[in-house]
Amino acid sequence: MALIACPDCSKQVSDAAPACPNCGKPIAPVQIEQTRKSFKLVMVIGILIALVGFFLGPVAKGAVPTALLLFGSLLFVGSIIAAWWNHG
Ligand SMILES: [Zn+2]
Repeated sequence: MALIACPDCSKQVSDAAPACPNCGKPIAPVQIEQTRKSFKLVMVIGILIALVGFFLGPVAKGAVPTALLLFGSLLFVGSIIAAWWNHG
């Protein structure tokens, strides 16, 4: 999170704010929303892959379910870290 100058009134505004608190000028809300959605999508895909690996585990023995579980968990954790990194 950083302070930027509002393009309309030049007051200091947080770049995480959806709009300038002084004049109401939107501060790139669309870009922030798209970023969050893409992280959520990766999170959901990670959970799904991990779940498939989890339920395949007892049925199909071998390295594939473990690999799916690991890969899904990594995707999930990675998306959380990426979201934190981009918005922290
Ligand atoms: Zn402003």
